Amino acid sequence: MEEKLVAVMINETGFEYDIHSLVKAFYPDCDVKVFVEGEKAYSSTEGLPDVSITFSEDAILLGIVAVGEEKNTSAFQGMKVKLLPGMARPEVKNALKQLIYTALTRHTGKELPWGTLTGIRPTKIPMQMLEEGKTEEEILSYMQETYYVSDEKGKLSLEIAKREKELLSTLHYKDGYSLYVGIPFCPTTCLYCSFTSYPIVSWKKRMEEYLTALEKEIDFTAEAYKDKILDTVYIGGGTPTTLEAPELDRLLGYLKEKLDFSHVSEFTVEAGRADSITREKLEVLKKWGVTRISVNPQTMHDETLKIIGRQHTVEQAKEAYRLAREVGFTNINMDLILGLPGEGEAEVASTIEQVKELAPDSLTVHSLAIKRASRLHQWIEEHGISALNNTDKTMEIAAKGAADMNMVPYYLYRQKNMSGNFENVGYATEGNFGIYNILIMEEKQTIVALGAGSITKRVYGDGRIERCDNVKDVGLYIEKIDEMIERKKSLLCD
Ligand code: SF4
Repeated sequence: MEEKLVAVMINETGFEYDIHSLVKAFYPDCDVKVFVEGEKAYSSTEGLPDVSITFSEDAILLGIVAVGEEKNTSAFQGMKVKLLPGMARPEVKNALKQLIYTALTRHTGKELPWGTLTGIRPTKIPMQMLEEGKTEEEILSYMQETYYVSDEKGKLSLEIAKREKELLSTLHYKDGYSLYVGIPFCPTTCLYCSFTSYPIVSWKKRMEEYLTALEKEIDFTAEAYKDKILDTVYIGGGTPTTLEAPELDRLLGYLKEKLDFSHVSEFTVEAGRADSITREKLEVLKKWGVTRISVNPQTMHDETLKIIGRQHTVEQAKEAYRLAREVGFTNINMDLILGLPGEGEAEVASTIEQVKELAPDSLTVHSLAIKRASRLHQWIEEHGISALNNTDKTMEIAAKGAADMNMVPYYLYRQKNMSGNFENVGYATEGNFGIYNILIMEEKQTIVALGAGSITKRVYGDGRIERCDNVKDVGLYIEKIDEMIERKKSLLCD
């Protein structure tokens, strides 16, 4: 099935990414391409782009908007926004996005819940304004007037930013750090996966080497940050519980031996896939003081689980959850995805009812994101995008389910190409908020990340952020571990 092309032509560089994200949000079924005049030739048989953007000395002019109709150069001819002398680049970008948003809203009749915001961290805006001492009214008006964010999403992001600010105030987030350990292996690859994840069967024989490389990184961290307070630890992936119980025992034991856990307020391990969970593994996690785990059904429908390639059943997911309770975990998260193939309101409602019966301590509700690197992209080419539906109603069903379980929203992020252009929201009961999740979203604290494909972020006192990434390829990671550590050293040690 060939995607329709939406071609945007612009005579200025540097805005392609933002334009692409915004136009794609209006036309999720289309292939959006942004061409810069003189750099990339637009070769269409029709000869005219769908949207043309012209920067003049004192204005941005929108020439044509005619997607899906006979092209008509006079449509929206003359829509423009004035550029004031000395306008900073972010302001120009904002003016450009407002212009495109207004034109496409008129053209399609669609409004986007997040308005012109295309970034993944919308709560950063209210968070910063709260820190500057702005009132709630000022923040909401700013979100609406500057970014055209809906009243509902403005209030949601403000509510979350307030909660995040309160939760972070209990951490040493400026003088401390958090640790991420990546285990990039899974039992099988999910249809929508775009993470660094490799089938565990291919790497079982080299796990010893992988763990040895991780231990070298742990040694480095222990030495480099011996005077810093470790606030939270998160073992993610992939699926960390693809490691066998003795391997988990070795990794967790090494972490506890080398690092000072006395201030750690949250120690999370993503148990994730039910097909990787056993009592023995859960007992190892418990033994080493893991405080929070995730058991992720994604959906409570066996048919969908088959389509998305999870190779476990709903009953297995429920059983894994019960086992985790039996072993004594008191903070269990569940991840769900809305907009999965063939699922609509009825399926989401039934999933939520089944989750309510289990009563987890937190629930992370994702909107399906369509990533180019995932098999889902291929699936859409074969089956069309119409089987993927996320709507206001399904989002509401999930939000209501979370509220019924006495949960409140505490973190939020967006991804590119999300079904329905919505967001991912983390809900939790009081005292069971995932602090690491907030830290990663708000980028308030240095996160030292170990393992293949992980990204370390150093947050400086002035808010500046610098990153260094480990290679994704597991073989290369093992081979070049000393090089990875040297790069970390340059980033983390002054
Ligand atoms: S469990 Fe997560 S990391 Fe593993 S394949 Fe599925 S989506 Fe990817």
